[in-house]
Amino acid sequence: MKEGYIGILTSGGDASGMNATIRAITRSAICNGYKVKGIYRGYEGLINDEIRELTTEDVSNIIQRGGTILKTARSKDFETPEGRKKAYEVMQKEKIHTLFVIGGDGSLTGARIFAQEYDVPCIGLPGTIDNDLWGTDLTIGYDTALNTIVECVDKIRDTATSHERIFFVEVMGRDAGFLAQNSAIASGAEAAIIPEDQTDTDQLEEFIGRGFRKTKNSSIVIVTESPTGKGANYYAERVKREYPQYDVRVTILGHLQRGGSPSAGDRILASRLGCASIQAMMEGQRNVMIGIRNDKVVYVPFAEAIKKNKPIDKSLITVLNELSI
Ligand code: ATP
Repeated sequence: MKEGYIGILTSGGDASGMNATIRAITRSAICNGYKVKGIYRGYEGLINDEIRELTTEDVSNIIQRGGTILKTARSKDFETPEGRKKAYEVMQKEKIHTLFVIGGDGSLTGARIFAQEYDVPCIGLPGTIDNDLWGTDLTIGYDTALNTIVECVDKIRDTATSHERIFFVEVMGRDAGFLAQNSAIASGAEAAIIPEDQTDTDQLEEFIGRGFRKTKNSSIVIVTESPTGKGANYYAERVKREYPQYDVRVTILGHLQRGGSPSAGDRILASRLGCASIQAMMEGQRNVMIGIRNDKVVYVPFAEAIKKNKPIDKSLITVLNELSI
């Protein structure tokens, strides 16, 4: 066994497949002669020393479970230099030589700053349902969330069709429309309203303009949640005002999108990236996120991974538009 420990934490919003990632990192590390510590409640637990050793048995029977056995949290303290100093001291005390952070762009931003300040090796794994990290085609949790949304929309469609209604279904994604655009394609929805396509066109006007009710007696529009208030309720209110002839309803899917048993795709992705993260450490890599591009594992520097506004393939918009006539 090698000296010291690797430390694993999950941070930010939970995503299905985080447990499969913890399992993969732990088992791969042990397999290669490293000892492992689990850090509970993200950066908050690192600061507060909520840490204990993980064995191969500790990660048994979790590959199929949603959420995270290590718990997750958002830590205001870690955003301060004092908080990060405490985190560093705890790392030293616990003999953790490399930190593995599973989370989204916020979590990796934190890891980047921490690594710069204290020269500690950090390795990131993309754990977020939003799929908004650069340099990786997919993030862990995205596929499961997408499948959950599609299952829900299939059910909503029965009501929409029976009552001849327009449903605005709001999904997660924050500044990224991947969940909305691809769930719209997969569920046969009539339109998706996504942040990436809101620059110069009014997507509601476009959708109405396409004559959505000419051949159909109901419609489903998937809308990305909006920090600026332009979510499903906004568009539903507009339709009520501007097109009062339509019967409009809103469904906000909310937190049911995050949990649940991970899809096979997410379990495999988590397992591959988890093993690759240990490989990366053994190669001397640090301050990189382990991603997947064209089905190959890649190392993405933190600075690139956390760039804002990962572009969505605009051909997906054409696919939806052509198929929703
Ligand atoms: P999700 O995509 O699911 O929301 P996330 O990782 O983007 O996940 P955030 O809430 O943005 O979630 O970030 C998680 C945590 O990362 C924060 O609570 C904070 O502890 C840390 N963090 C975020 N930004 C910074 C920063 N600029 N400096 C230090 N730490 C940060």
